[in-house]
Amino acid sequence: MDNIDNLEILLFEDNIGDAGLLEEMLEESNSLYQLKVVETLEEGLYVLKSNFFVVILLDLGLPDSDGINTLIDVHNKAPDTPIIVLTGLDNEEIGTLAVKKGAQDYLIKKEIDSKLLKRSIRYAIERKKTELELEISHEKLEEKVRERTKALEQSNKELQQFAYVASHDLKEPLRMITSFLQLLERRYSDQLDQDANDFIGFAVEGAKRLDNMINDLLEFSRVTRKEIEFNKVDLNNVLEQSSLNLKLAIENNYAEITYNTLPTICADENLMILLFQNIISNSIKYRQNETPKINISATKESYQYIFAIKDNGIGMSSEHLDRIFTIFQRLHTKDEYEGTGIGLAIAQKIVHQLGGNIWAESDLGMGSIFYFTIPENSII
Ligand code: ADP
Repeated sequence: MDNIDNLEILLFEDNIGDAGLLEEMLEESNSLYQLKVVETLEEGLYVLKSNFFVVILLDLGLPDSDGINTLIDVHNKAPDTPIIVLTGLDNEEIGTLAVKKGAQDYLIKKEIDSKLLKRSIRYAIERKKTELELEISHEKLEEKVRERTKALEQSNKELQQFAYVASHDLKEPLRMITSFLQLLERRYSDQLDQDANDFIGFAVEGAKRLDNMINDLLEFSRVTRKEIEFNKVDLNNVLEQSSLNLKLAIENNYAEITYNTLPTICADENLMILLFQNIISNSIKYRQNETPKINISATKESYQYIFAIKDNGIGMSSEHLDRIFTIFQRLHTKDEYEGTGIGLAIAQKIVHQLGGNIWAESDLGMGSIFYFTIPENSII
C-alpha cells in the first residue's frame, strides 16, 4: 500500500449501530485501518478540508443530504480519494449509479462481512490509483497533441507566408527577364541567325510558363490564406457563374453541361465558384474527340451532401488518381495539354476548408467522375 503512515478511513454514517458494526468488522479482519465517523455531510466535508483518508465509506442517506447528491458533494471535495457507497437492500440501483458518478465500489449494508469489506477497500484503492494514473497519462497525451498541433499550425502559417512572398517577389525579376528578352527580339532579331532567334523564342516561352505558374501559386496561396466568409450559397447560381467564367472554353468546345437542381449550402460563394470552375475546366480540357458532356449532381447522405462531376473525357489510369490533387502534379506534358498542375490542389484546399473530402474515379479512355463532400453543418 502506498500511504502506509495513514490508514484512516472516513465513514459517513448517522446510524451509530451500523457504524459500530463496521468498526468491529475492520478490527476482526486484523487490518491496520482506523475509522473516523462523521454523522452529517457538513461535518464530513469539514473534516475532508484538512485531512487525508485512504478511503471514504459513504452512506448516501444523511440527516442533511440524501441520494446521489451526497456522493457528488463528497467526490467534489475529495476527488482523489476512493469512495465506497453503502446502500440498503432495496435500492441497489443507486449503487450502480454511484459507480457511474465516480464511486469506486458499492456495498449492500446487510451483506457486508469483514472479508467483503476488506476486499472492497483494497479494490477501491487500487481502482482509484489506476484511474488517477490513467488520467495523468491522458492529460500528458493531450498536452503533447496540443503542442504538436500548435507547432504544425505555426509551420503551416510560415509555409503559406513563404509561398505568398516567394511568388509575389518572383514576379518582379521575371517581368524584367521577359521585357529584356522581348527588347532583344525586337531590336536585334534581324542581326541574329535563326538559332539565336529560336533560343530567344524558347526563353520567352519558358518565362511565360513560369509567369503562369507563379500566378497559379499566388492563387493557391490566396485560397489558403483567405478567411472563409460563410453565407447562404445557392449552388445553382454558383454553377451559372462558373459557366459564365468558362464561356469561351464551353463555346469553343461545344461542351454540354447538365445538372439537376442543386442545394443551397452554407459556404463561401467565391470559393465554390472557383471549385466548380477548376473541375469543369479540366473536364473540357481533357476531352476526347466527341462532344464534351459534363453532368453535375448532388445526393444527400445522412450527414453530408456528395457532389459528382462526371465527364466523357480521356480519363486517367486509376493508379495515378491520388497524385493529381498534389500541387504541380500533372499526368500530361505541357506539349499535350496546357496547364500548371495547381487547379486540383486548389479544389482540394477549398473542399478541406469546408470540412469535406475530394476524390476521383476514372480509367483511361473511360471519362472521369470527380466527387466531393460538404458536411451537414455547412448545409442550411
Ligand atoms: P492542370 O490541368 O493544370 O494540369 P490540375 O491540377 O487541374 O492541373 O490537374 C492535374 C492533372 O490531373 C492534370 O494534369 C491531368 O493530367 C489530370 N486531370 C485532371 N482532371 C482531369 C479530367 N477531367 N480528365 C482527365 N485527366 C484529368
